[in-house]
Amino acid sequence: MIEDDDAGEFLPMDVEETRKQVEMSLDYAYQCLKILAPMGIRGVSAWCESCEIEHYYDWDIVIRNLKDNLAGQPASPHEPAVDVDPSDYRTWDYCCGFIDGCSQR
Ligand SMILES: [Zn+2]
Repeated sequence: MIEDDDAGEFLPMDVEETRKQVEMSLDYAYQCLKILAPMGIRGVSAWCESCEIEHYYDWDIVIRNLKDNLAGQPASPHEPAVDVDPSDYRTWDYCCGFIDGCSQR
Protein backbone atom coordinates (compact mmCIF):
# COMPACT_ATOMS: atom_id res chain seq x y z
CA MET A 1 0.00 0.00 0.00
CA ILE A 2 1.18 3.46 -0.84
CA GLU A 3 0.15 6.28 1.40
CA ASP A 4 -0.74 9.29 -0.70
CA ASP A 5 0.61 11.88 1.68
CA ASP A 6 4.14 10.54 1.74
CA ALA A 7 4.44 9.17 -1.78
CA GLY A 8 3.80 12.47 -3.54
CA GLU A 9 7.03 14.03 -2.40
CA PHE A 10 9.19 11.42 -4.06
CA LEU A 11 7.50 11.11 -7.41
CA PRO A 12 9.52 13.10 -9.98
CA MET A 13 6.41 13.88 -12.02
CA ASP A 14 4.74 15.54 -9.06
CA VAL A 15 7.85 17.58 -8.35
CA GLU A 16 8.00 18.65 -11.98
CA GLU A 17 4.31 19.53 -11.92
CA THR A 18 4.66 21.53 -8.73
CA ARG A 19 7.66 23.37 -10.14
CA LYS A 20 5.71 24.29 -13.26
CA GLN A 21 2.89 25.64 -11.15
CA VAL A 22 5.27 27.71 -9.06
CA GLU A 23 6.93 29.09 -12.20
CA MET A 24 3.51 30.01 -13.54
CA SER A 25 2.60 31.70 -10.28
CA LEU A 26 5.86 33.64 -10.38
CA ASP A 27 5.00 34.77 -13.89
CA TYR A 28 1.59 35.95 -12.67
CA ALA A 29 3.17 37.70 -9.70
CA TYR A 30 5.49 39.70 -11.99
CA GLN A 31 2.56 40.71 -14.16
CA CYS A 32 0.58 41.71 -11.08
CA LEU A 33 3.50 43.88 -9.99
CA LYS A 34 3.51 45.52 -13.42
CA ILE A 35 -0.25 45.90 -13.90
CA LEU A 36 -1.96 45.86 -10.48
CA ALA A 37 0.61 47.68 -8.35
CA PRO A 38 0.22 50.94 -10.34
CA MET A 39 -3.54 50.63 -9.73
CA GLY A 40 -2.94 50.76 -6.00
CA ILE A 41 -3.21 47.05 -5.28
CA ARG A 42 -0.28 46.27 -3.03
CA GLY A 43 -0.47 42.52 -2.90
CA VAL A 44 -2.38 39.35 -2.16
CA SER A 45 -4.68 38.49 0.71
CA ALA A 46 -5.08 34.89 1.80
CA TRP A 47 -6.90 33.15 4.61
CA CYS A 48 -4.49 31.33 6.89
CA GLU A 49 -5.97 28.24 8.46
CA SER A 50 -3.32 27.85 11.14
CA CYS A 51 -3.52 31.46 12.33
CA GLU A 52 -7.24 31.78 11.54
CA ILE A 53 -6.77 35.30 10.28
CA GLU A 54 -6.33 36.86 6.87
CA HIS A 55 -2.69 37.31 5.84
CA TYR A 56 -1.56 40.07 3.50
CA TYR A 57 1.46 39.78 1.23
CA ASP A 58 3.07 42.59 -0.70
CA TRP A 59 4.16 41.71 -4.23
CA ASP A 60 7.85 41.64 -3.31
CA ILE A 61 7.07 39.11 -0.58
CA VAL A 62 4.94 37.01 -2.95
CA ILE A 63 7.77 36.97 -5.48
CA ARG A 64 10.40 36.22 -2.86
CA ASN A 65 8.37 33.33 -1.44
CA LEU A 66 7.89 31.83 -4.90
CA LYS A 67 11.61 32.17 -5.67
CA ASP A 68 12.47 30.57 -2.34
CA ASN A 69 10.09 27.77 -3.21
CA LEU A 70 11.82 27.22 -6.58
CA ALA A 71 15.19 27.21 -4.82
CA GLY A 72 13.91 24.47 -2.52
CA GLN A 73 13.78 26.72 0.50
CA PRO A 74 10.76 26.84 2.76
CA ALA A 75 8.65 29.94 2.34
CA SER A 76 7.84 32.10 5.33
CA PRO A 77 4.10 32.58 5.03
CA HIS A 78 3.36 33.94 8.51
CA GLU A 79 5.22 37.22 8.45
CA PRO A 80 3.33 39.71 10.56
CA ALA A 81 1.65 42.35 8.47
CA VAL A 82 1.97 45.79 10.00
CA ASP A 83 -0.51 48.58 9.35
CA VAL A 84 -2.08 46.98 6.32
CA ASP A 85 -5.20 48.34 4.70
CA PRO A 86 -7.20 45.28 3.56
CA SER A 87 -8.66 47.29 0.69
CA ASP A 88 -5.16 47.46 -0.85
CA TYR A 89 -5.10 43.68 -1.26
CA ARG A 90 -6.96 41.17 -3.42
CA THR A 91 -7.20 37.39 -3.41
CA TRP A 92 -4.79 35.49 -5.63
CA ASP A 93 -7.73 34.19 -7.69
CA TYR A 94 -8.89 37.75 -8.36
CA CYS A 95 -5.40 38.80 -9.43
CA CYS A 96 -4.91 35.84 -11.76
CA GLY A 97 -8.34 36.44 -13.28
CA PHE A 98 -7.48 40.09 -13.83
CA ILE A 99 -4.16 39.21 -15.50
CA ASP A 100 -5.90 36.63 -17.70
CA GLY A 101 -8.40 39.28 -18.73
CA CYS A 102 -5.62 41.70 -19.66
CA SER A 103 -3.64 39.21 -21.72
CA GLN A 104 -6.67 38.29 -23.82
CA ARG A 105 -6.90 41.75 -25.29
ZN1 LIG B 1 -0.56 32.16 9.30
